[in-house]
Amino acid sequence: MKITAIRAWQIDLPLHEGSYKWSGGNSVSVFDSTVVAVETDEGVTGWGEICPLGPAYLPAYAAGARAGIAELAPALLGADPLSLGQLNERMDAAMRGHPYVKSAIDMACWDLLGKVSGLPVATLMGGHVGNDFALYRAISQESPAQMAKKVGQYRKEGYRKFQLKVGGDPDVDIARIRTAARELERGDVLVADANTGWTQHAALRVADAVRDVDVYIEQPCMSYEQCLAVRRHTNRPFVLDEVVDGIDMVVQGIADQAMDVINLKISKVGGLTRARQIRDLCVSLGIAMTIEDTWGGDIITAAIAHLAHSTPERYLFSSTDFNSYVTVAFADGAPQRKAGRLAASHEPGLGVAPKMKLLGRPVLEVDGKAGKGRR
Ligand code: MG
Repeated sequence: MKITAIRAWQIDLPLHEGSYKWSGGNSVSVFDSTVVAVETDEGVTGWGEICPLGPAYLPAYAAGARAGIAELAPALLGADPLSLGQLNERMDAAMRGHPYVKSAIDMACWDLLGKVSGLPVATLMGGHVGNDFALYRAISQESPAQMAKKVGQYRKEGYRKFQLKVGGDPDVDIARIRTAARELERGDVLVADANTGWTQHAALRVADAVRDVDVYIEQPCMSYEQCLAVRRHTNRPFVLDEVVDGIDMVVQGIADQAMDVINLKISKVGGLTRARQIRDLCVSLGIAMTIEDTWGGDIITAAIAHLAHSTPERYLFSSTDFNSYVTVAFADGAPQRKAGRLAASHEPGLGVAPKMKLLGRPVLEVDGKAGKGRR
C-alpha cells in the first residue's frame, strides 16, 4: 500500500463552558483543530487530528501544525502507511523535531492499519481491557469557591476524578485545593495541576500547606530540575506532564524516581506509535498514566480511547473525553462518555467517519499533482 495524498481541514471547536483557563493567565475559548486524511492507492483513507492547547501551552500551535504538515507531506507520498516504524523513520528524516506535526499523520496511519486488517486500533495495541475506563474532568481556573462547586456538578455527570487548574497565586491555590478537597467523596481522586505555573519556592509552600490533603501534585514548575526539587520535598503523589515530551525523559524520570504518574499526550510525543512505546515502557516499569492529548475533537478522542482502553487498568490513572467539552461533533462513531467513563470502538481502525459536509473544503492538499501543496 502506498500513500497517494494527504489532505487537511481546519475546524473550530468552541467550548460549552465558554472558556478554559489555566496557569499564567492563559485561556482558550475556541479550539483550532486540524483534521488530516491520509489517502492510499487502494482507495482506503485513514483519519487523524491535531489540536494544540493554544500557542502558549507547549511548543506547538494550530497554524504551525498545518504549515508543518504542508512541509512534511510531500516526503511521505509513496510511503507504505502500514509500516508504521518505517513511516516514523521517514518523518523524522524529513523533519527534525516538531512531534505535534507528525501526530495526526501517524494517527491516520494507525486508522489505516486497523481498517486494512479489520481490527480496532485497541486490539492492535494490546486489546480492550474490560468494558470501559475512567475519565477525569479538568476544572478551569476560577475562585476557590467556584472550583469547589464544580466538583459536585461534574460528579453528577459521572466523573470521579477531578483536575484543578492551579499554578497561580500560591495562597489562592492553597485555598483552591483545600476548598475543593472538602467536596470529595470516598472514591474520588483530586489532582492539583499547576501546568508549570509556580516558581520553585511557591511550589514548595503549596506542597507543604497541603501535606494533610488527599491530592496529587502535577507539574508544579517549568523545568524538570525544579519539579524534581519539589518532588523530593513533598509527601504527595506526584505527576509529571509538560516536561515528559519523549521516552528519554520517561527513562530519566524513572531513574530519578521523579514521579509516580506521567501525563502521556499523543501529540506531545509525536503520535500513537511513540505514545504506545512509552505506554508499554511505563506498564513494564510500574508507572501509571493519564492518557490523553493536548486537546481535540472526535478523532483525537477516539485515538485516546483506543490507547487508554488497551492499557492495563491499574496503570491507567485516568483519561479524557475532549469531545464532550466542545460544541461541535464532526465525526460519526466517536466514543461518547457514559457515567464518567469511555470505551473505544470495536469497529476496524479508529472507528470514526468524519462528516464531510461539516468539514467543507480542505485547507491543504498534497497529492503529487500540485507540487508542494496548496495552503
Ligand atoms: Mg497536566
